[in-house]
Amino acid sequence: MDTIILDMRDGIEENGIHRAGEILKSGGLVAFPTETVYGLGADALNAEAAAKIYQAKGRPSDNPLIVHIADVEALDRIAAKIPEEARKLAKAFWPGPLTMIFQKTPTVPYGTTGGLDTVAVRMPDHEIALALIRSGGGYIAAPSANTSGRPSPTTAQHVAEDMNGRIDMILDGGHAGIGVESTIVDLSGEVPMILRPGYINRAMLEQVIGPVEVDPTLLSATAKGRPKAPGMRYKHYAPKADMMIVEGEQEAVIRKINELVKEELSRGGRPGIIASDESRARYHQGVIRSMGSRSDELSISGHLYEVLREFDTENVTKIFSEAFDTPDMGMAIMNRLMKAAGHQILQV
Ligand code: AMP
Ligand code: MG
Repeated sequence: MDTIILDMRDGIEENGIHRAGEILKSGGLVAFPTETVYGLGADALNAEAAAKIYQAKGRPSDNPLIVHIADVEALDRIAAKIPEEARKLAKAFWPGPLTMIFQKTPTVPYGTTGGLDTVAVRMPDHEIALALIRSGGGYIAAPSANTSGRPSPTTAQHVAEDMNGRIDMILDGGHAGIGVESTIVDLSGEVPMILRPGYINRAMLEQVIGPVEVDPTLLSATAKGRPKAPGMRYKHYAPKADMMIVEGEQEAVIRKINELVKEELSRGGRPGIIASDESRARYHQGVIRSMGSRSDELSISGHLYEVLREFDTENVTKIFSEAFDTPDMGMAIMNRLMKAAGHQILQV
């Protein structure tokens, strides 16, 4: 199959949206930009279409998809019980990087929910995404548009790297801003629980609905428990090279990473370093990439997957990363880094 790429970096193009919507309505696959990462869209109410997503990504079939909507009213058709907290959160954060879990109605096929009786829903804050959802029938299942196990795509080029020839169309809307996937909150239990951290953090949620718990398996590197969000247990976001995070006081971290880089070079390897603008000049050997300034968290989250993909292209043999426990998005950024590193973390 030839994958058509439509350039909408200079603005939304109605004809293109119409063509893409027709593809979705006839059961095809269209990748599109959102404010988090690029999504791989299919008609969420059509089980056969949803099955194509799993095939294109090589995704395990019990890993559920998030259904994307463009209007709050659309929720009633797919969510059976909508708690008051959900209404409040939708009002506060939609459109935006927040996914909520509900009991599903029979309208949603099990092929979309990975066999679960619950459905994950979000309304993205991106004009191309919203227009496409409306044009494609209003309910678009869309996981990140990467091959399963690779870092999520933040540009149309990343999508093409993984999906060229496997999907019908890619809408190019430039760089996806936030760069890490949406926050997922489960509202089907007694206390709302964060299943995946994202841009919308715990404090922001608590301001709107009061106490929110965090799935304990997210907080600790060593937690053996089974994550509540099914997809979170798969090895995700993995670069090809083995990766280690070094955490501690800044000077000690820089010293340790420089040491590890030397060792890797002496073994004949090609080390990669994930630094920040503040520390970059303190490293001298290896492939050095800055994620951005520690005072600009969106720059760090926005570059994370791109840096990991670059290391794949550079064929580095080992990646050493500083830790990024930043004040607002620290939990989200560290969650993705830890997954990329297979939870290898060194305290110095
Ligand atoms: P993504 O691949 O980024 O679209 O992420 C989809 C993720 O959302 C899955 O891997 C799950 O972790 C989560 N998810 C989707 N639907 C549900 C659900 N019904 N219950 C719990 N988690 C869900
Ligand atoms: Mg994903």
